[in-house]
Amino acid sequence: MDVARSADTASDADEAFDAIVVGGGLIGLAAAWRAAERGVRVAVADPDPGSGASRVAAGMLAPVTEAHYGEEPLLRLGLESARRYPGFIADLERAAGIPAGYRACGTLAVAFDRDDLAALDELAAYHRRLGLESARLTGRECRELEPLLTPAVGGGLLVAGDHQVDNRMLTAALLKALSNAGVPLYRDRVVGITVEGGRVAGARLGAGRALRAGLVVLAAGCHGGDIAGLPPGAVPAVRPVKGQILRLTVPAAQAPFLSRIVRGTVRGRPVYLVPRDHGELVVGATAEELGFDTQVTAGGVYGLLRDAHHLVPGVGELPLAQASAGLRPASADNAPLLGPVGPDGPRGLILATGHYRNGVLLTPVTADVIAELLATGNLPPIAHGFRPTRFDRAPRATAAAAGVGPDRTASR
Ligand SMILES: Cc1cc2nc3c(=O)[nH]c(=O)nc-3n(C[C@H](O)[C@H](O)[C@H](O)COP(=O)(O)OP(=O)(O)OC[C@H]3O[C@@H](n4cnc5c(N)ncnc54)[C@H](O)[C@@H]3O)c2cc1C
Repeated sequence: MDVARSADTASDADEAFDAIVVGGGLIGLAAAWRAAERGVRVAVADPDPGSGASRVAAGMLAPVTEAHYGEEPLLRLGLESARRYPGFIADLERAAGIPAGYRACGTLAVAFDRDDLAALDELAAYHRRLGLESARLTGRECRELEPLLTPAVGGGLLVAGDHQVDNRMLTAALLKALSNAGVPLYRDRVVGITVEGGRVAGARLGAGRALRAGLVVLAAGCHGGDIAGLPPGAVPAVRPVKGQILRLTVPAAQAPFLSRIVRGTVRGRPVYLVPRDHGELVVGATAEELGFDTQVTAGGVYGLLRDAHHLVPGVGELPLAQASAGLRPASADNAPLLGPVGPDGPRGLILATGHYRNGVLLTPVTADVIAELLATGNLPPIAHGFRPTRFDRAPRATAAAAGVGPDRTASR
C-alpha cells in the first residue's frame, strides 16, 4: 500500500489515532515504525519526509570517536544505541524488504603534528579510563590499513566498533516499513497542536485538515518551535547548527578507495571521510552557528576538500557528486530531549528531538524509548537522564541561551 495515498484517501473516521508523529526524519519515522510494531495506531505528518538533517548526515555511528569530556551520559546512550543497531537493522530489513545500508567497518582517527598526536594520546587515555575499545597505531600501521593516507600521517587510533549506516537508505527502508505496516503518512506541514483541557487533542495540518490523537510526538528536528498552539516556554529550545557536507564518487576502478571511516584534524579543523559500499565517499562537515541558513558556500566546499585532500590526497581526482547543507537540532547540553514536556506544556505532548550531531546513531534507542512510552505510558530508565524537564531547575533554555557559542568540537 502506498502510504501517502492511504492518507490522502482516508475518510474522516480514519483520522483519529492513538498518536501523531510530527516530523518524518529518521527520528520520527523510526519511532512511528517501532510504535506501530507495538500495536499503537500511529500516523506521521511531514511535507517532505527525510528531507532534513537526516538526508544530509554522514551516517557515522560513532559513540567512541565522538566522545567528549563531560558528555558521559550521552556516550552511554550512544553506546547502547550502537549495540542495538544490528538488531534494529535486521528487523527493519525484514519489515521493509530492502537493504537499510548498515556497514560494520570501524573508524581510524589519524593525527599529523606533535599537538595532534598529543591530543590523540589524551583521547586514548580517556577511552581507557572509560573502558572503551580503541588501539593506538603508528603512522606506518595506519598506512598499512589505509594505503591512500598521506605519508605525513604521524599516528592514529583504531576504533573497531564505530561503524556507519547510509542514512538515505535507512530513511527509504523506514518509509517502506511504515508503508508495509499501513501507517498513514500525511505529506503536509503541521501548523498547530490542538489542546483541550490541558491535554493534547491532535494536530492541524496546513491544508486545514485536523487529526485527532491523545498523544503527539514532536520530532520535527530544529523546527519544533515553529508549531502554534503550545504555551510559550513549554518546549525547550532546540537551535540549528549548520553543517555543510560533500558526496564524491569513487569510480569502480579505484575501489576500494578507503576500507573504513577515516577522520582527522587539520590545523584544528575536524574532517572525516566515510566510504559507502556502493562507491559514494562522504566528506564532512562544517559546524556553523548561522540560524536557519542552509546555503552551500564556496568557502565551505573549499575548506572540506582542502582538509580531506590533506588526509587522503587522491580525493582530488574523484568526481564531486553533491554538496549540501543541513541543520543539526541542538539542545542546550547537546543531548536529546526524550519524553513528556514539563508542567508548562499540555499532557500527552512528547518530545523526540535535540539529537544534534548524533541523531543517526541514536535512532534505534530513541525509537525504542518513544515506542515504549506510546505503548505503555512508561519512559524506559535509559531515557530518564534525557527528559525535557532536566532544564527546569536551570533558567529555561531560550534560543539565545541555548546558543552557547560556536561549538568547534562538532564535526558532524
Ligand atoms: C552535515 C551533518 C552531518 C551529520 N552527520 C551525522 C553522523 O555522521 N552521525 C549522526 O549520528 N548524526 C549526524 N548528523 C546529525 C543527524 O543528521 C541529526 O541529528 C538527525 O538527522 C536528526 O533527525 P530528526 O529526525 O530529529 O530531524 P530531521 O532529519 O531534521 O527531520 C525533521 C523533519 O521534520 C519535518 N518537519 C519540520 N517542520 C515540520 C512541521 N511543522 N510539520 C511536519 N513536519 C515538519 C521536516 O520536513 C523533516 O523531515 C549530521 C547532521 C548534519 C547536518
